[in-house]
Amino acid sequence: MKVTEHIQKSEKTLFSFELLPPLKGEQFSQIEDKINPLLEFNPSYINITYHQEEIQYEHLPGGLLKKRTVRKRPGTVGISSAIQYKTGINVVPHLICGGFTREVTENALIDLHFLGINNLLLLRGDAPAGQKYFIPDLDGNTYAVDLVKQVSNLNKGIYLEEELENAHPTDFCIGVAGYPEKHPEAPNLDSDLLNLKAKVDAGAEYIVTQMFFDNSKYFEFVKSCRAAGIDVPIIPGLKPLSAKSQLIVLPQTFHVDIPQVLAKEVQKCKSKQSVYELGIAWSIEQSKELIAAGVPVLHYYTMGKSDNIREIAKAIF
Ligand code: FAD
Repeated sequence: MKVTEHIQKSEKTLFSFELLPPLKGEQFSQIEDKINPLLEFNPSYINITYHQEEIQYEHLPGGLLKKRTVRKRPGTVGISSAIQYKTGINVVPHLICGGFTREVTENALIDLHFLGINNLLLLRGDAPAGQKYFIPDLDGNTYAVDLVKQVSNLNKGIYLEEELENAHPTDFCIGVAGYPEKHPEAPNLDSDLLNLKAKVDAGAEYIVTQMFFDNSKYFEFVKSCRAAGIDVPIIPGLKPLSAKSQLIVLPQTFHVDIPQVLAKEVQKCKSKQSVYELGIAWSIEQSKELIAAGVPVLHYYTMGKSDNIREIAKAIF
């Protein structure tokens, strides 16, 4: 079932979470260890992230450097399929522009369609570590909107090979990312909203937000989206804070604010466990307020760990 159908069919707020594909060589059982503790809360769907290749340099004798590209977490397509068929829960694989030609992207889409996966979250991706700006592949999509257009075309039976006869249309439900606190590269919130509107106009049917720790940022964002004519469901993305270091790392990595009252409480914590528990408690309060406001789904970023999400789900779902 598509994400939008899950939303249409439910009168209450749904539960979903995001998983990272395992590191190379890990077994499906290691993924199950992360999914199984959350199954009793009936997730409507599970997102599977995509990871761009990284550039690494190996030192050779004579001071030479050898450039290598490494993908640490490959396998989004295969893992998505295994999860959907083993658990019976719909999956939402992420697809990114970075590191992919449009042809490789089309082949991944053909595989997903063939595997019976018809939900996608389409993203641009970030610049790989060590590179300052995002640079698309020579024959790749530059912005998420271009990827949305490619998938929308495929949904109409328009493949890259223009002369393809009897082309079969796909039937993907497309989600995209939105940023309540603005995407860091956007010059201002208004131009970021114009970009989001372009993604919706190109075929995106729902939005998942970047994490936020202050619900008022989400409520303001929804208001601005509606004023800008963006009328698709806007799914809040939540991440429980789990370590003191995240007071610096999260704003630095995701360009989100940590409210002063939360930051102060974290600073007062005397142990790792107390920070962890505070993060869960804060996320539970955020979830309750968002449910009261009637959000369609609560989407949790696991960042590869599910223990704290389980504690939140226990209190909420
Ligand atoms: P875009 O929508 O393309 O926007 C990127 C920037 O370009 C914005 O500043 C936008 O305002 C600007 N822009 C867009 N169009 C134009 C235009 N025509 N002209 C000028 N400027 C323009 N990353 C991964 O690598 N893998 C994942 O699995 C992944 N999952 C994510 C899930 C969610 C819910 C979120 C919120 C993010 C995720 N990311 C993931 C991170 C994401 O790839 C980055 O935030 C990336 O920097 C932007 O992606 P986007 O799809 O929002 O890009």
